[in-house]
This record gives sequence, structure tokens and C-alpha cells, in this order.
Amino acid sequence: MPTDAITPDVLTVPRKRPEGPVNLVGLTREAMRQALIAAGTPERQARMRVGQIWQWIYHWGLRDFAAMTNLAKDYRALLAENFVIALPEVVTRQVSGDGTRKYLVRIAGGHEVEVVYIPEEDRGTLCVSSQVGCTLTCSFCHTGTQKLVRNLTAGEIIGQVMLARDDLGEWPVPGAPKDETRLLSNVVLMGMGEPLYNFENVRDAMKIAMDPEGIALSRRRITLSTSGVVPEIARTAEEIGCQLAISFHATTDEVRDRLVPINKRWPIAELLDALRTYPKASNSERITFEYVMLDGVNDTDADARRLIKLIEGIPAKINLIPFNEWPGAPYRRSTPARIRAFADIIYKAGYASPIRTPRGEDIMAACGQLKSATERARKSRAQIAAETGTSG
Ligand code: SAH
Ligand code: SF4
Repeated sequence: MPTDAITPDVLTVPRKRPEGPVNLVGLTREAMRQALIAAGTPERQARMRVGQIWQWIYHWGLRDFAAMTNLAKDYRALLAENFVIALPEVVTRQVSGDGTRKYLVRIAGGHEVEVVYIPEEDRGTLCVSSQVGCTLTCSFCHTGTQKLVRNLTAGEIIGQVMLARDDLGEWPVPGAPKDETRLLSNVVLMGMGEPLYNFENVRDAMKIAMDPEGIALSRRRITLSTSGVVPEIARTAEEIGCQLAISFHATTDEVRDRLVPINKRWPIAELLDALRTYPKASNSERITFEYVMLDGVNDTDADARRLIKLIEGIPAKINLIPFNEWPGAPYRRSTPARIRAFADIIYKAGYASPIRTPRGEDIMAACGQLKSATERARKSRAQIAAETGTSG
């Protein structure tokens, strides 16, 4: 822009950012401090302002700067001018017969991801997505048939927790007695995507979820599930500090190569080495080994015995997941008798109650069934084009 176009007027009036207001949701405390300073907050006040705004957003669940009553009126106006407090948009919400809720959520660019809330007797778990689609192609996973579209931002990840709290009506009410039983008490990074391929955004979002001045979930109630991105595993303990789950699923490299192709890059022995040296593993913080039960593929007694032998010496829990079928899936769920026999061997080796009950199957909300409707639609259009011999 030529300099003679800048009038003194324009220079003195605080200008809106050309790229539009910045979303405060998902910024770390430090990033928020920088953003407030850039918008004109005096540097010596910035840390205190972050503390105040943080509480409004993450403790009280407020979305409107005008209601931040401990801030001066003109400062609230400055915030409203420069920032927004925005969550991904809930497109549809389905409730299963068993109380499981599935949200289809739209993020910038028109992409969609799924978020699942699973109520249980002693807890309520939110299954959060970290990517639109997945670059990996685990052959039993519905998400794996969908190409990676993009990583979610930290705001889009913590936004899933916030929109679920909105729907559950769980933000605190000023003056009401403190209720310690939470509807949303646990978070698992087991939705769409490989969280360790979006490490920084997942980390920043989980730091926000754990921050004691806000949502304040204990790090023990957050579990990150990975297919086995070995070089990033130690960072999970060091930089996030949450619990770790490994999608193990097979006891030989031959079978694991087929089920979890990342195994070709980091085979079982290397994965187990990384887990043996995992900084946080202890008897009170065990690593979860997820094991999907596929009929005739990985479910023999010999598999169960090999599994126990492989994980020897690692503080571990085993979670058997009956395969959740999806249209066109190349596998079937192991029979209940087979799952019981497998579980029994594991139980006798000293691991307790390992079978995960499938939840929300009637709304395709169970583990590994998630795949966004738009990408699905896109794919079927492509299929139609292929069938009719047209292109594009
Ligand atoms: N990408 C990460 C986290 C998302 S998948 C990972 O792979 O760990 C969450 C869990 O669901 C993983 O253990 C995954 O292997 C499992 N899963 C995927 N598809 C499944 C299906 N159809 N039935 C049962 N479990 C499935
Ligand atoms: Fe991706 Fe996990 Fe599905 Fe594998 S199981 S394709 S890593 S989401």
C-alpha cells in the first residue's frame, strides 16, 4: 500500500487484523499472552489478563467478551474487536440406545470429523479425533479407508471437549455447590487420525484440557492411543504426561504388517523397546495394549500366549476389542467363545477384565467405525464415476 494512502486517522484507530479476528480457543497461555500484546494489551498486564480470560473461557465456558465482568468495558471492546471464542460447528448429533452420543462436527474448510461421548457407570469418556482421515491404512479400520485431509488445530481438538460439555450442560454455574462427579470425566484420543502424527496440536490441546484453572482434567484421565509411531512415543510422557495406549493387534510381524502397516517401518521388537524405556510406565500407570479380535486372523490361544510373552516386563493392561464391523470390512469379529478363551489365558497370566464392550454400534459410533459423511459421499461419487466410466 502506498504510504500516502495512510491518513493519521487510520493510524490512531486500532485496526482490525487483515486476516480477521483470531480465535483464542486452542492458544497456549504463552501464545494467548503474545496475541493480547499484539492487540494492544500492555506487556506488564498481559499475564494477568491471560489468567482472567482463560478462566472465563475454560472454567466458565463463556463465549462472549461482553460478559467478562472483571475486565474494564473498553478492554472487553478491544478483545471483541480482535478476537473470537469459536468452536467447531456441530452438524448432527445422534444418541444411541445405550446413551452413547455421536457428534458430526464441521471444521474450517468444510471438513467433518466425528466425536463420541460414552457414558458409563463410573465415568463418561469423550473419544476425540486428531485428524480428518488418517495417513495410515490399518486394514480393519474404517478411518483408514479415508485419505488424510488435514491435521486438526489445537483449537479444533480442545473445541471437541468444549462442545461436548456444552451439549452435556456441564459448565459450572456461578454460586452453585461444586459437583465433583463429572459427566465428561475422561478423554481418549481414539477417534479419527493418528495423534502422534499431529503431536504439537494434540499436546497443546491436552495441556489446555489439564490446566487446573480451566477444564482441569487429570492427566491420568486422558489416554492417547497410537498405532506405534516409535520416535514420538517418549515425547508423549515428557511433553503431555497423559496415559498411553498402543494399537498392538498382532503377535507376529507377519500379521501385524498386514493389520497395522506402520509395523513395516517400526516392527514389534522396536515398538516394545520404546515401551520398555517409556518414562512414565509404572504399576500405577500402565500402558494399555489394545488388541482387536479378528476371526481367524489374530485370535488363537497361541496368539494369547505370545502376547503375554512379548509384553513381559512392561507395566501393562490388555484391552481386547471385539472387532466393530463396517460396510465392506474385510474381517469378521471373533466369536464370543473365542474371545472368552483368549481373555481367559490373559486373565490367568494376571491381567484383569480385558474385554471392551462395543458401544454405540447402532449409530456407527464404535471404535474404528468413524469416517466422515462428506468424505464418504465424495468416495461414493468417485466410485459411481468409475462404474459409469466417466471421470472427475
Ligand atoms: N490412530 C490411533 C487412534 C485411533 S483408533 C490408533 O490407531 O491407535 C482407536 C482404536 O480403535 C485403535 O486401537 C484402533 O486399532 C481401534 N480400531 C480401529 N478400527 C477398529 C474396528 N473396526 N473395530 C475395533 N477397533 C478398531
Ligand atoms: Fe489410522 Fe488408527 Fe485407523 Fe490405523 S487404526 S488407520 S492409525 S485411525
